[in-house]
Formats: sequence, structure tokens, C-alpha cells
Amino acid sequence: QLSTRLERVADYLKGFQTIADIGSDHAYLPCYLALNNKMVKAIAGEVNDGPYQSAQAQVVKSGLSEQVQVRKGNGLAVIGDQDQIEAVAVAGMGGPLIASILEDGKEKLNGIKRLVLQPNIAAHTIRIWLVKNGFTLVDEIMIKEDDKIYEILVAEPVVHPPTYTAADVLLGPILRDKQGSAFKEKWEREVHSWEQVLNQLQKGKASKEKEIKHQELMQKISLVKGVLS
Ligand code: SAM
Repeated sequence: QLSTRLERVADYLKGFQTIADIGSDHAYLPCYLALNNKMVKAIAGEVNDGPYQSAQAQVVKSGLSEQVQVRKGNGLAVIGDQDQIEAVAVAGMGGPLIASILEDGKEKLNGIKRLVLQPNIAAHTIRIWLVKNGFTLVDEIMIKEDDKIYEILVAEPVVHPPTYTAADVLLGPILRDKQGSAFKEKWEREVHSWEQVLNQLQKGKASKEKEIKHQELMQKISLVKGVLS
């Protein structure tokens, strides 16, 4: 049984026949995709030995060795031209780590049709990378599972990437229009924690650094409050 979070990631990979899941851990996602579609060929990439072994064990246990290949390596290095990968998933890591995996292996993304990215934190770092590197967001969702809030970003290559405003980058150009309960809860929580930091900053001695931090937080709070309806 896949988590709701990974099920939503899987929804965005339907229709693609060659998929790479980078940082696959137990390989639950590629095994699920392969079980649901016999045509799917997937690569489960893992850099760490423990998760690599779990991925291999899961693939064998599921009888999917023909469809899912587990490869050990850093990020997109596990993909070769011969794999003709159509879609790449990178889920369950911080936004900066996902962005660095994309940056370090960007030559492997030529010809890719879709990226499905699920950052646990700091999704804005991914949005910045996407528009700088010829991608546009085609969908974004925010979901809540077991009291945790997750964002899923779906991107596809475009000739002319869009220009995002600061609010688009921070909150998501699609999510800020869709909003919804998980979105509101996440950003209300963020604003609350930034306001607490602001209160702390006001205590004690003033300094240039505190002033800069104060300005940054005020800007982010007004950006988010301006979007929340
Ligand atoms: N993708 C799965 C999910 O969403 O449930 C597993 C997420 S798990 C928290 C993150 C996995 O990414 C770990 O198994 C870790 O070993 C792997 N990982 C971290 N950095 C990586 C990299 N540069 N290349 C490949 N795998 C990486």
C-alpha cells in the first residue's frame, strides 16, 4: 500500500513508459508503477547502500526484475542515453537537494518529457531552478497526510520558460491560484512562525543583521498575506 503522497506522485507519471525514480529508497514508487502497467520500464536510483539494498529486495520480492532496474549512483548519473527516460521523479527530499540533483545531472534531462518533484521543504529553490533551465510548471498540488503537508511540483520542458513573480516562486504560480485547505494551513503556520521570529528579533540589542532579517521576514509575511484569500 503506497502512501497518499507517493500515490499522487504516481498519478503524474501515468502514461509514461520509461521512468527514473531518483532517491528511490524502497523502490515503492517504481514497483507500484510497474505493477499497474506492464509496459512500464523503471530505474530506481539510490546513492546509499542501505536503501539500495532495500530497493533490490523489494523489486525481487515483487517479481519485477524485468521491469524495474535498481542502480547505485549519485542523482541522475544512474540514467544513460540508451534508457530513453521520459519522466523523472525525485521525492521526499529537501528542495535544495532536489535542485542540486537536477543541476548536477542536467545534461541527462535532454529529451525528458516531465519532472515530478516532491520537496519536503523549500520548494521555491526548485521553482527557481526550473525556470532557469527551460522548464515550466504544469501542475502543483499540496496535500496533507499524517499531519504533514507535502507539495508536488510537475514540470515540463518549454521553449520560453515563464517569468515568475516573488509570490509565484515562494507559494507556487499554480498553487497560489488553487489554494485549498492544506495550502492555507501551511502558509498560516509559516506566517505564525515568522511572526514569532520577528518578536524575538525585537528583543535585545539592535544590529544591522537583525534589521536585514527583520526586513526579509516582513516582506515574506506581506507576500503570503497578500496571496491568502
Ligand atoms: N523517494 C522516496 C520517497 O519519497 O518516499 C524516498 C525518500 S528518502 C527520504 C530519500 C532517499 O534519497 C534516501 O533513500 C537517500 O539515500 C536518497 N538520496 C539522497 N541523495 C541522493 C542522491 N544524490 N542520489 C540518489 N539518491 C539520493
